[in-house]
Amino acid sequence: MKYIIVTGGVMSGLGKGITIASIGRNLKNKGYRVTAIKIDPYINIDAGTMSPYQHGEVFVLRDGGEVDLDLGNYERFLDTELTRDHNITTGKVYQEVIAKERRGDYLGKTVQIIPHITNEIKSKIRKVTARSGADICLIEIGGTVGDIESMPFLEAVRQMHREEPSENIVFIHVTLVMEDLQGEQKTKPSQHSVKELRSLGLSPEVIVARSNTPLQESTKEKIALFCDVPQELVIGAYDADDIYDVPLMIEEQGLTTRLMEHLKLESRVEDSSWSEMVARMKSTTDEVKLAIVGKYTNLEDSYLSILEAVKHGGIDNGCKVEVNMLEAETLEENHAEVEKLKEFDGILIPGGFGVRGTEGKMLAIKFARENDIPLLGICLGMQLAVIEFARNVVNLKNANSTEFDEDTPYPVIDILPEQTGAADMGGTMRLGDYEAILREGSLATKLYGSNYIVERHRHRYEVNPEFVDRLESFGMVFSGKNKNRMEIAEIPGKRFFFASQFHPEFRSRPGRPSPPFKGFVRAMCKYRKERESL
Ligand code: GLN
Repeated sequence: MKYIIVTGGVMSGLGKGITIASIGRNLKNKGYRVTAIKIDPYINIDAGTMSPYQHGEVFVLRDGGEVDLDLGNYERFLDTELTRDHNITTGKVYQEVIAKERRGDYLGKTVQIIPHITNEIKSKIRKVTARSGADICLIEIGGTVGDIESMPFLEAVRQMHREEPSENIVFIHVTLVMEDLQGEQKTKPSQHSVKELRSLGLSPEVIVARSNTPLQESTKEKIALFCDVPQELVIGAYDADDIYDVPLMIEEQGLTTRLMEHLKLESRVEDSSWSEMVARMKSTTDEVKLAIVGKYTNLEDSYLSILEAVKHGGIDNGCKVEVNMLEAETLEENHAEVEKLKEFDGILIPGGFGVRGTEGKMLAIKFARENDIPLLGICLGMQLAVIEFARNVVNLKNANSTEFDEDTPYPVIDILPEQTGAADMGGTMRLGDYEAILREGSLATKLYGSNYIVERHRHRYEVNPEFVDRLESFGMVFSGKNKNRMEIAEIPGKRFFFASQFHPEFRSRPGRPSPPFKGFVRAMCKYRKERESL
C-alpha cells in the first residue's frame, strides 16, 4: 500500500480536499486504484449532528455514513464509493480506545495519547486501506498544522513514516501564498507552517501552494529554498474557473510523474476521460436558468452535491446551467416573488429539516405544477410536493407532515412505525443505500433505463401509505417503491415533474450524471427552446 499524506498550513478552507482529490484522480488516470481517507480532528463522532451552516452539506455514503463533504469530492473525482470508515474523527478514535479500556484490553496499563490513541489511529488507517483493495491511499489531515486537535494525528503519521518503507509514503503540505498590497506573492506564512511541521518531526516532500493567481517562478524558487524541497516539487494551485480544472492544472506541472517516481510506480494506462469531460464542459453552447428554492442559500456548500449533480447533467446535455439560489422564506413573505419564478427553466426543491421555509417551497412547487415548469424535488422536496398536491389538488385542507404539524387532520407525510424507537441522535434516520422497484412505463423507468435502482437516503419521515390510493386517484403517481415506502412521486403529462425520497445527487459523477438530474436538465433545455421559439 502506498500512502500520500496531506497536511494543511496557514489556514483552513484552502480547498485542500479538491487538491487531494485532483492528485488522486491523476494517479487513477495512470491505471491505479485510488482511495482516500479524511481525518477530521473534531470530537463529533460524525458529521450527522452538525449544522450545514457550520460545515456545509452532510454527505451520505452507501453504508449510511454521514460524513464531511470532502468525501463527496473524493467519490466524484475518484469515481469510487467510500464507507463511513473512510472518515476518521477524534470522536471515533477516543470512543474505540475508551471502549477497549473498559473491556480491560489494555491489561492494566495507563492509557495515553502516545501510544494508545496514536496506535488506534494507525490501525484504523491500515484497516480501511487494506479493506478498500486500493493501490494508493490519500490521507487528508483536516485542520491546520499547529491546531491542538490535530496533534495526535500528525504524531501517528510521523510514526507511520518510520514504520513504512520510504517508497511507500509521501508527505504533501498544502499552503497559502498571499499577495501583499502591491500584488507581490508572499511566502512567509508558508515558511512558518513548514517550520511548524518540521518541529513535529514531519518534512513535506511536496508543497502545493494555493494562490489567487498563477504561482510565479520566483515564488516557487523562494518556497523551494526556505522549505527545503526541490523547486519542481513546489506546485502552484491557483483559483481555477472550475474545480474540475484542478487535476489538469496539477498534471501540467508534472506532479503525477514525480509522485510515481517517489512511490516507485510505473504508469499502467493513460486514461484521458477526465480531460475529455472538462473539454465537453467548456464547449457547451446552450444555457438554462435554474432556481433552487432552499433555506441555506447564503452558503452554497450546503447544497454542494446538488450543485455538482446539476453540473453533471449540464455537461451531458451540452448545456451550462446557471444556478440561482432563492430563499424560500422570501417567497412566503411576498407572493409577487413567486411570480418571478416564471423566468426560470426549472425549479429544484432540495432536502431539508424543520418547518422554516416549507410553506415558501410549497408555493414554488405549486407554481411549477400549475405553470408546467420542470420540477425536481429531493427528499423534503418530494414530501412537500406530496403535501402541496394533497392540499391543492385532492383538497385535503391543512394536509401536512407530522414533522411540521403533529395535529394535522391529514398526515400525508408521517413516520412509519418501524422508523421509531432508536435511541441516540442520528439513529432514527433511514440512511444510505436502499433499492426501489420502478413502475413500468413511468418517467422513472425512462430516466433510469431499468426498473430496479439503488439510491442513497437520509430521512426520518415518508409518504403515509394510507393516502397513496387517494393521491393516485387524483393523478400523482408513485412510480418508485420499496415495499410500502414511496420512493418516487411524479405527475404524468407534465414537462417534467419528478420527486424522490432518496438523494440522487450523492451518486452522480462527472461524466456519469445521475439519471434524474440528466433528465431534469434535458427537460429544462427543451422548455427553454420551446419558449424561445414562441
Ligand atoms: N425532514 C425530512 C425527513 O426527515 C426530510 C429530510 C431530508 O430532506 N433530507 O424525512
